[in-house]
Amino acid sequence: MVKLQSGSELIFRVAIALPVHRLFDYLAPEQLASTQIKPGIRLEVPFGKAKKIAFLVECVPHSDIDIAKLKRVERILDEKPLLSTKDLALLHWAAGYYHHPLGEVFSAAFPVALRQGKAAVIQTEKRYTLTESGKALDGELLKRAPKQKSMLEKFQAQPNALSETELSAWNSNWRASVKQLQDKQLLQLTASDLTRGASNPIIKSTALPCNTEQQAAVDTVCGSLGQFGVFLLEGVTGSGKTEVYMQIIHAVLERGRQVLVLLPEITLTPQLEDRFRQRFNVSIAISHSKLTDRQRAGAWLTMQRGECCILLGTRSALFTPLKNPGLIILDEEHDASFKQQEGFRFSARDVAVVRGKLLNIPVLLGSATPALESLQNVNNQRYRLLHLPERAGNATAPVLQLFDIRNKKMQEGLSEALITEMRLTLDKNEQVLLFLNRRGFAPTLICHSCAWVARCRRCDANLVIHYDEKVLRCHHCGQEQRLIRQCPACTSGELTPLGLGTERVEKALAEIFADKTVVRLDRDSTQRKGSLEKYLQQINQGAVDIILGTQMLAKGHHFPNVTLVAILDVDSGLFSIDFHAPEKLAQMIVQVSGRAGRAEKPGRVIMQTRQPEHPLLTALIAQGYNSFAQTALAERKEASLPPFSYQALLRVEAADAEMPKLFLQAVVDLAKAHSQGHTDILGPVAAPMARRAGLYRYQLLFQSGRRPELHVLLDVLMPLIEKLKLAKKVRWSLDVDPVDLY
Ligand code: ADP
Ligand code: ZN
Ligand code: ZN
Repeated sequence: MVKLQSGSELIFRVAIALPVHRLFDYLAPEQLASTQIKPGIRLEVPFGKAKKIAFLVECVPHSDIDIAKLKRVERILDEKPLLSTKDLALLHWAAGYYHHPLGEVFSAAFPVALRQGKAAVIQTEKRYTLTESGKALDGELLKRAPKQKSMLEKFQAQPNALSETELSAWNSNWRASVKQLQDKQLLQLTASDLTRGASNPIIKSTALPCNTEQQAAVDTVCGSLGQFGVFLLEGVTGSGKTEVYMQIIHAVLERGRQVLVLLPEITLTPQLEDRFRQRFNVSIAISHSKLTDRQRAGAWLTMQRGECCILLGTRSALFTPLKNPGLIILDEEHDASFKQQEGFRFSARDVAVVRGKLLNIPVLLGSATPALESLQNVNNQRYRLLHLPERAGNATAPVLQLFDIRNKKMQEGLSEALITEMRLTLDKNEQVLLFLNRRGFAPTLICHSCAWVARCRRCDANLVIHYDEKVLRCHHCGQEQRLIRQCPACTSGELTPLGLGTERVEKALAEIFADKTVVRLDRDSTQRKGSLEKYLQQINQGAVDIILGTQMLAKGHHFPNVTLVAILDVDSGLFSIDFHAPEKLAQMIVQVSGRAGRAEKPGRVIMQTRQPEHPLLTALIAQGYNSFAQTALAERKEASLPPFSYQALLRVEAADAEMPKLFLQAVVDLAKAHSQGHTDILGPVAAPMARRAGLYRYQLLFQSGRRPELHVLLDVLMPLIEKLKLAKKVRWSLDVDPVDLY
């Protein structure tokens, strides 16, 4: 504690979630209890006319502001900080590295409920699941008790436990019937709600015997528990990465430590959760954006108190405090969703590595298609590579093939050769998966006589035709209008859809394969809650013949009966001004391929292209992802692009067309005045999409071969930029290590 001269006031220096690079001073509360006041506690402070939640950064004896003008802290919310000293250090590091206001960084580390100042208490939620007799019971036997019958059937219709929230959402009078079914021993509380007695074993089901490579990976990481190290587990889909994770987790749990597992997608959590619950006897917490604030705060606090052993979560779970940290795992580490793309733009992968270092625990990154940055970190021996070269069990790798579609007759994006292959596969009662990364019916509506094109009024973008809903919709700002029939420009021309979207292909498939069942999986078709789960279940039960979808398909799902995968339009991924594009395309191809032939049946992957000689495609097919990646890294090195240089992108937008450019020119002047000469200042240039949602957009790229120098420059610049007069007339944000340049 700070010593005060008699008569002077103690000052609380706090961080508040506001987009400004400064801290705020307050007078300490009047009746300061004898409890030790430590950095990290939450406070309630008056701010303007409102109250805000603040995080204590330090106590100091003096303020630069006149004491008479300072307001007083109103309330202390936490007796003790909820974050450890090391995690507080992590937040300070992140605010510095990403040049982001500390208050917003703090705020991001807490779940919403705690951010809003709610008390740090766990409101537990019960979850129910069927007993063995409940699973087996024929619902008709309960027909005298219709409420119980429908409750039983609700549980029987889905594989997972149901929580109080989920039951309430379904039927507000659920309690009585659940109680009655419990009395009949048809329903029970889930095992995770009963705490594990110390004598129970950690493991429920036994581990699979590892193959040599899996064993080497497990041994390497287990030999390094209790100390920092980063491991990159590279293995094709189905090579048994999850099995490796589980065996390492077991070793960590045996040491009484906790594990944080981060995944890119919410839709992947139930699958992994199931596998973990089948394997482990310990309590597992879940955290992702589809849960209620109460559930997420509960997961956060149980980990913080050490009451839970494993946390499965998405990006935002990264900062969850761990009482006994043991291991951090990032599955699908290459996935773009680990980068937050708004507000506090951090890379969960990079911050996880720093966190592992501070906590002195290993960090395990897994992927079939590691990010080039991670592979380069292997090349320069910062990360250790663990390789699983083959599929586990008996599954064989799929064969990749290019179909040259130049001058070929096409039926709504499907070449005749592909249709033939599809027929052969379907005749064997196997499933086909078609990948097209474009939603809607067609991306363009054009006039056949005057070439007028339906454009978004607020963006530099075409409106996408959504035929089923009879609307034209902008995929960038969400604006929509009715689907028109007549050209508004020449009033005579016929409007024609140009290009392909999943909706259009779905309609074509319904005609070509009239006797087959087609399921379309994209953001539009799975908007309703539970619909994705329903489709996935139908697919796995074999009720579906053809699966058509967008990138939603590329991630993690197991479709054991799919033996043919076709990527309808590879070429659209080959043209992009973003240097990350080839890497993303290669990852997408390999990930989609991974859906094929996972079980005993071998799979094939067909890519339709007009560029069958494209070096990216041929290298990937002939030599595989890793060798593609090394070639791509060599190209990046040649061009001095990341990871061989370091970037930060300053994005600006404003309703006024001139303002963004003027603002960035002022920034360039500042930057030139303070630069030490090894940082390139590129721009200002119009953003690739120069107008979006009615705002004009510009950007400025900083690039340097010397990371410290780039950051010293940004340190100096940020407060100066904030003080520029023009800064008030635009919206601006800095993106350190940007992963897309849009
Ligand atoms: P990944 O996470 O790399 O996609 P998984 O761990 O899900 O791979 O494994 C793919 C399939 O292979 C699963 O069905 C899994 O049970 C099985 N499997 C994993 N390891 C082994 C092993 N050592 N022996 C037999 N089967 C295995
Ligand atoms: Zn026209
Ligand atoms: Zn728009």
